[in-house]
Amino acid sequence: FELERLGVHDSVEAVFPPSELADFLADLPLEVGVIGDDEIAACDAVVTLEYREAFLEVDWVHSIQAGVDRFPFDEFEADDVVLTNSTGIHDRWVGETVAGYLLSFARRLHDHVANQQERRWDQPEWDEGFTLSGTTACVLGTGTLGSGVAEVLGSLGVRVTGVRRSAAPVPGFEEVYATEDLLEAVADADFVIVTLPLTDETRHLVDADVFEAMRGDAYFVNVGRGPVVDEAALIDALESGTIEGAALDVFETEPLPEESPLWELDEVIVTPHCAAFTEDYFRAIGDIVHENVSRLESGEEFYNRVV
Ligand code: NDP
Repeated sequence: FELERLGVHDSVEAVFPPSELADFLADLPLEVGVIGDDEIAACDAVVTLEYREAFLEVDWVHSIQAGVDRFPFDEFEADDVVLTNSTGIHDRWVGETVAGYLLSFARRLHDHVANQQERRWDQPEWDEGFTLSGTTACVLGTGTLGSGVAEVLGSLGVRVTGVRRSAAPVPGFEEVYATEDLLEAVADADFVIVTLPLTDETRHLVDADVFEAMRGDAYFVNVGRGPVVDEAALIDALESGTIEGAALDVFETEPLPEESPLWELDEVIVTPHCAAFTEDYFRAIGDIVHENVSRLESGEEFYNRVV
């Protein structure tokens, strides 16, 4: 197909100003503009955060996220619409967020911030603080996110193991387990960190059995997708003391409902699906779009093609 008009869908606003990306792409040999829902049909290609049914009318849709679980692959395929995603850019961004969670738990920073809101001078118990050096983290998913987490935590002296569909080794992971050995993989870890995509296989992969297999003093982190975790089982595990705490960026329902007990549980850090937010986000997306426009021109396969 020929590209004449590329629209930056206004849903990307949740992550960066759409006009920043449109300006970044202004040197492309096509018309680029910020569009709302009623202008989708007039485009050949769309860059977007959210899904819209009208996307089935265009030739190419680029997701600014790595996770494309909300897009109907079968319908894209049936209507000959190319879908590309943004895996490959979030490694250090999410890795540093995860390091922040772990440092908060180890150095009690979340307690101090909470105390500061109340003007309360309250030192931790003598045995509450610990250091990350020498601890072990088991990372579920060894792709872009998992490798970024392994790299940043590795630099803090954390021993990192991984879980993927096969047990084949991955650089940065001291040991790799296959998914069927998940319970064994999490058993000795101080931290269990989910960086998995949501698929039929990963939905509720982390359930009560996994929390039961974890150490009682272990922390759980989810920066992948909410439904990979049985959230009711997680809440039970936290309330019963089966595990020590959790840091969560993604949830079964987003925004996290006001009545969720996760907001108020001790030793739980809640962040609003922003583990990868950075001022550089639009540039990284712009680079992927540039790459794919030039591949289209030279007849090469799309980079990061999903459908
Ligand atoms: P990648 O494709 O690079 O990595 C996915 C990893 O998951 C691979 O290591 C793959 O291993 C593993 N995997 C897939 N299925 C299974 C399974 N059934 N059992 C065990 N391992 C499995 O993706 P990214 O790292 O870029 O992104 C991962 C997900 O993280 C995204 O899909 C998105 O949902 C989420 N995300 C969240 C962000 C946030 O802001 N919180 C930001 C960016 C991404 P293998 O193929 O070897 O089995």
